[in-house]
Amino acid sequence: MTSLDIARASLRGVPTYAPEALSCAIDLRDNINLFGVPPAALAAVRAIEERSLTQYPSVAGGSLVSVLADQLGVRPSEIVTGCGSDDVLDAAFRAVAEPGMVLAHPSPSFSMVPVFARLNSLIPVAVPLAPDGAADADALLATGARIIYLCSPNNPTGTTTPAEVVRRIVRASDAIVILDGAYAEFATELEDLRAEAPALDRLLVVRTFSKAWGLAGLRVGYAIGSATLAEAVQKSRGPYKLSAVAERAAVAALTQDQAWMRRHALEAVECRERVEGELRELGLSPLDSRGNFVCVPVPNAHAVADQLAQRGIAVRAFTGLPVFGDALRIGMAPWPVVEQFVTAMRAVFA
Ligand code: PMP
Repeated sequence: MTSLDIARASLRGVPTYAPEALSCAIDLRDNINLFGVPPAALAAVRAIEERSLTQYPSVAGGSLVSVLADQLGVRPSEIVTGCGSDDVLDAAFRAVAEPGMVLAHPSPSFSMVPVFARLNSLIPVAVPLAPDGAADADALLATGARIIYLCSPNNPTGTTTPAEVVRRIVRASDAIVILDGAYAEFATELEDLRAEAPALDRLLVVRTFSKAWGLAGLRVGYAIGSATLAEAVQKSRGPYKLSAVAERAAVAALTQDQAWMRRHALEAVECRERVEGELRELGLSPLDSRGNFVCVPVPNAHAVADQLAQRGIAVRAFTGLPVFGDALRIGMAPWPVVEQFVTAMRAVFA
C-alpha cells in the first residue's frame, strides 16, 4: 500500500504548509507584530498557575468571549473562538457547506483559504481582484458560491474592500460571507462590521490576535456572526481549542493593552508609509496597502528575494499573482530594522 492509498482521495494534491526555511538575521515574512508583546498579556502568561496547566481549559474560551461581547456590544452567543483564525476559518468552512459545494475567494488572497476549502472537500473558485485591489463583488456573486470569502485588508496585497461592498454581497446572495479582518487593526479608516454582523445573519467577521495583538505564538482567533452561525462554527470546531494560557493572555491584552496595541499598530502604519515612499524613489509602485506590510510588484520576485536574503533579510516573494504579477510582501518592524531592508533594496536596484 502506498501513502497515496492511505490519505483520503480528495487530500491528494493538497499542499502541506511548509514555508521555506531561511536563516536570515531579519525575517519580515510573516506580518506578525515585530514591535513586541502586549505587556499585560506577557505578565498573564508568566503568572499562570499549575492548576491551569493540569486542568482542561474552558470548553470554548468563555472569559474571552465575555470580554469581547462587552467591548463590542454583541451577545456572547454571537462569538466563537478558536486556535488562531486559521482554526476559525477551517471550522467555518466545514460548518456551513456540504462537501462538493463552491467557496469563492478573491485572488490573490490568503493562500490557506483554497487549502482549507479542499481539506473540507469544498471546491475553491478563485476570482481575480479588481485592478484597484478591492474584491470584485459582481464576479464573486456570479460564481453562485455557498461561501464567499473576503479579506480586508487583503493578504498579500494589503488592499481593502469597502464595508458597503461587503454589505452588498451579503444582501445580493444566499451565500455565507466570511470577512477575514486579520489586519483590520491597522486600517482604522475601514468601517468595523463586527457589531453589525449578527444582524446581517449570513456575515461572519473573523479576527486574530496574531498580528496587531502580537500573540501569534499563542494561537487565538475569533469570529462574530448571528448566534445560529456562531453556534454552527463552534460545533464544527470542537471543544478546548483555546488553551488556558492563550485565553488568559488574550483577556489581559483586551482589558489592559488596548493603548499598547493602537500605538504599535500606528507605528507599523507609519513605517509602511515611509517604506512605500522609499520604494517609489526606486521607481517601484507599491500597492495601496492598509495592513502592517508593504506589497510591491517587482520583476523576478524570487531573484530579488534571494538577493535580499544574501544581505540577511527575508521577505515573501510571490510569482505570477493574478492582476499584479510578481511581487514582494514585506512585514513592518521598528524603523531601524526596516531601514536595513530599504538599504538592501537600494543596493539590489542600484
Ligand atoms: N487570515 C489572514 C488574512 C492571514 O494573513 C493569516 C495569517 N497569515 C491568518 C488569517 C491566520 O492567522 P492566525 O491563524 O495566526 O490567526
